Parts: sequence; C-alpha cells; structure tokens
Amino acid sequence: MSILVLGGAGYIGSHTVYELIDEGMEVVIADNLETGYAAAVHPKAKFYQGDIRNREFIDSVFDNEKIEAVIHFAANSLVGESMTNPLKYYDNNMCGTKVLLESMVAHGIDKIVFSSTAATYGEPESIPILETDNTKPTNTYGETKLSMEKMFYWVSRAHGLRYVSLRYFNACGAHVSGQIGEAHNPETHLIPLILKVPNGQRENITIFGDDYDTKDGTCVRDYIHVTDLAQAHILAVKYLMNGGASDIFNLGNGVGFTVKEVIETARKVTGHPIPAVTVERRAGDPAKLIASSEKAVKVLGWKPQFADLEKIIESAWKWHSTHPNGYNK
Ligand code: UDP
Repeated sequence: MSILVLGGAGYIGSHTVYELIDEGMEVVIADNLETGYAAAVHPKAKFYQGDIRNREFIDSVFDNEKIEAVIHFAANSLVGESMTNPLKYYDNNMCGTKVLLESMVAHGIDKIVFSSTAATYGEPESIPILETDNTKPTNTYGETKLSMEKMFYWVSRAHGLRYVSLRYFNACGAHVSGQIGEAHNPETHLIPLILKVPNGQRENITIFGDDYDTKDGTCVRDYIHVTDLAQAHILAVKYLMNGGASDIFNLGNGVGFTVKEVIETARKVTGHPIPAVTVERRAGDPAKLIASSEKAVKVLGWKPQFADLEKIIESAWKWHSTHPNGYNK
C-alpha cells in the first residue's frame, strides 16, 4: 500500500515525501508542475504528472495504485494573488478538492491529511491562537482553505471518510541535506527574500511597516521548519491509520519573532550586513500570529525539532546559497 502525495513536487509536499521515504513508506506523487518542480520529486517516489481537477487523471491514479491514504498539498497559496485573482483560487483549491473527493469516495479511499493554514483565522482575537478560535479569513486564499476544510467535514459525515486538517503558521527552512528547499516564483516570503541580499540578488530587504503594536514595531510571526511540518503529516497519517477521528490541528512553534529579529538572525547566519529599508505596511497583515500547537503535541505526539530560529535560517541559507535560482539552473 502507498501514500498518495498530491502536490508532492512543491515546497512542503517535497519535504514530506523525503520524510515518508526515510520512514520506509511507499510513495506515489501526483503534481501538475504548475508551481512544483520535477527536480523536487524524490527519485524513489512514483510520479504522475497531472491535475486533480481532471477526474479521469485522478481516477487513473487510484485505479493503478493501491492507495492507503492521501496527503493533499495541491493548491495555490499566494495571499496577494488570491486577492487579485480570486477565481483562480476557487477553481484550483476548491474545484480541485471537490473532484478529488468524488474520486476518493468512488474508490473507497477514506483517509486524507490536508494542508490548511493560519490564514483561516484572519485577524486573531487572542494569542496564542487555538483551533477552537473563530475563523474569519481576511483573504481569498484563507477563505478557500476554510471552505475546503468544511467540504471535508460534510463529505466525512456523508461517506465515512476521515480527515486531518493541519493549519500551518509560517513554513520556512529547507531539508538538512540541502537537496530540496523553498522555490516560489514570484517569491513573497520573508526569509527567502532576506537571503536574496547576501546572494547578491537584492540591494536590501524591505520591512513592511514598523508602527505595529509589537516590541519593535514590526510584525510577529510563528516560524515553523518545513521538516517539522513534514513530520506532523506523517504522524497525522499514522493517527488516521490507527482509527483516529477527523480533527483539525495548528502547527507552529508557539514562539513569535519580529521581522527585525528575523533579519538580525539572518545577518548573524550569513555574516552579511543585509541593509533593511522600512516601507508602508502590507495590506491585510495582522500584527501578531502565534500558534498554540498543544493539541498536535498531545494528540499526534508531535515534537518540533527546529524551534531555534538560527537553525531554521541556517538550513534555508544552505539551500539558497547553493541554489540562488531555486531549481532553475
Ligand atoms: N515581510 C516584510 N518584508 C518582505 C516580506 C514579508 O516585512 O519583503 C513581513 C510581512 O509583512 C509579515 C512577515 O514578514 O509580517 C512574514 O511575511 P511572509 O510573507 O513571509 O508570511 P505571511 O505571514 O504573510 O504568511
């Protein structure tokens, strides 16, 4: 029996595949390579190129392979783009998941782990954020992820499927081997953008606002290493295999760092002065996002290994300094 990883050529998907294979599991990947990279596909995984919105394609994967459980990363994930092109997000994220669920139900596949996001909460009402807090997304990306969670809920009630939804905070870092890492185009995330400065690809990093109500005025985020996220997916698959009930879990370190602290740590790791320029706030950025992941620790037995920001940035730098253009030569 295999685990099917949808979006297994993307950032978090590829890191999860590496961990699954390290644990001796059989892995099948399906990815349309729209934002994923063939070079990120683990050589020991079986790879199908195709789109989950295509029912014939996803049916053929389930027909050809013995799939025990699905891990679903196949979605668009850029907050800014989701605001200028919302229908792209409804189409890929929601319609894709609808077709996937139809095919899973038809094939009697009843376990799925799903990549969700802190963006489902919107502006937090209290810190740290708990799974039981209100969900009021402030962007289309978060809205589609929340709708996908609800789709799983109603389908699980009707068809007996079980799901785990994992709400990530700020995914970052790269595989310790330096073989795979973060490669978005365009890049919008803080750590890879900072590392473009010591890589000679940017003059400086821009800080989006320093007048927030935080200790140094810049936004606070909960940075969580991609390998820790990957481990949580494996624990969630095992939880479902052992009969665990459908549930939702936050995944973060429970510690917040300001934008200025992240830049300072990158200076220390890279030995580069990394000039920073403060500009206007970015629309839709909450001042502070910090997770409570106690539930994942208690129920799934999750133990993040990379709580230290310096270690996280060291792993990211190992990747970016050797792959300044990501997977493109
Ligand atoms: N940020 C910044 N400059 C940049 C990119 C991001 O100051 O060039 C800030 C952003 O406002 C947020 C934090 O860094 O407070 C993390 O942003 P990112 O886009 O990495 O993740 P998000 O929190 O939006 O998911």
